[in-house]
Amino acid sequence: MSEGPELPPIPSIGDVLGRKKRFIQKKSSVIRCKKCQGKYTRSFRSGDYTFKKIDNEKCPDCKEITQSTILEIYSEWIDPKKE
Ligand SMILES: [Zn+2]
Repeated sequence: MSEGPELPPIPSIGDVLGRKKRFIQKKSSVIRCKKCQGKYTRSFRSGDYTFKKIDNEKCPDCKEITQSTILEIYSEWIDPKKE
């Protein structure tokens, strides 16, 4: 048996997997209030999609429950240990 060149270890894959396990995905929706035209972000709720009209959202700026539109939905990986 001939000894071939040693394969380099592949720690990078393990690192990525470990990170994915530790981090949790947080989804957020960016909403525009129709009344004050202000933009605010709140946690994603099931059924949210971009450009969806919602009419029972309370705007944190003008405190009105008015029709709002979802402008954008984004997700980020957060470290639960830092929260
Ligand atoms: Zn508003």
